[in-house]
Amino acid sequence: MTIAIQDPTAVLDQSSSAISASQTAADTGRRIVTGDRPTGPLHIGHYLGTLVNRVRLQETGCAVTIVIADYQVITDRDGTGPLRDRVRTLIAEYLAAGIEPDRSVIFAHSLVPALNQLMLPFLSLVSDAELNRNPTVKAEALASRRSMSALLLTYPVHQAADILGQRGTLVPVGKDQLPHVELTRLIARRFNDRYGTIFEEPEALLSTTPAVQGIDGAKMSKTRGNTIPLGAGEDETAAIIRSARSDGLRRITFDPIARPQVANLLTIVAALTGDDPHQVADRVGDGGAVALKTLATEVINESLRELRRRRAELLTDVGYLDGVLLDGSARATATALGTLEEVRRAMGMDYFSG
Ligand code: ATP
Ligand code: MG
Repeated sequence: MTIAIQDPTAVLDQSSSAISASQTAADTGRRIVTGDRPTGPLHIGHYLGTLVNRVRLQETGCAVTIVIADYQVITDRDGTGPLRDRVRTLIAEYLAAGIEPDRSVIFAHSLVPALNQLMLPFLSLVSDAELNRNPTVKAEALASRRSMSALLLTYPVHQAADILGQRGTLVPVGKDQLPHVELTRLIARRFNDRYGTIFEEPEALLSTTPAVQGIDGAKMSKTRGNTIPLGAGEDETAAIIRSARSDGLRRITFDPIARPQVANLLTIVAALTGDDPHQVADRVGDGGAVALKTLATEVINESLRELRRRRAELLTDVGYLDGVLLDGSARATATALGTLEEVRRAMGMDYFSG
């Protein structure tokens, strides 16, 4: 079977119809802020859900800022894990995917402490009932198999500080993040009402594949261990996909309701090739799950070959990767301090600055 792989940044140029950002996404004036937790290597869900959109927006001239949310690692686990290696791997993966550190900013939360101070006034703007209603926070507490920590409950407020502190106006994220972006909008609105307008309400930007499933049928996520990592080897990718849940029907059809796992593989292939998932299903025809998995493996390996090569090369130069983080964090600190100054002035918190 011949596979035509297309530049994935060309596929993901639409946002969900539920989100109003699509018309303006290409505006060069948009400030993009988004991020990831350094809880493990990036996977195909990140790639299709947000990373490709970040690169595309960078290419259209938007200022892109990526938060490595290291303090958010401990929202749902006891320790921080091998942070240094994980953070270096994330940076290598961003750069391998096309993020350019001269144009875009990559920073770690722990290196920009000014952002934490913003969280205090923001916490005062939301109620515990509003925080407790957040479906993503509830799902994450459940997946962590432990009781909800106060940090997990307030995680979306922390995120509001990341986004608004960097003056983000467009946030390319997966579907799980929509309630959080909604809360950031609410916080911006309430702050403006109470203290005078200084924030623009940011909008979420979804890709056409905003909720990629893992090989077990649940949301693909680092915590659940059900991922197809971007950095996996080709044989490893084949083995992972072979173990993905599917069904026994020979005829492959695209039916997200009745056949979610088959639809998920078709969706991944479609996003990477630029085809319609129904067309991909027709191409596999009566080949059943085995042919679909073979096709998915080929498409994923082909699409990621160059990214994987660059990733491996970048990981040999950790000094460079660390420099990218330190430089980005210095730039993010300057922006965060500027925002904090404005916030303190608006609130009358600068009473001792003269
Ligand atoms: P963890 O299990 O540690 O929470 P994760 O795999 O959920 O890890 P995050 O770091 O929480 O990854 O998410 C980073 C970004 O990637 C967010 O914008 C999120 O919406 C997006 N994302 C994560 N998983 C998926 C997925 N399966 N499909 C689409 N987007 C995703
Ligand atoms: Mg997550």
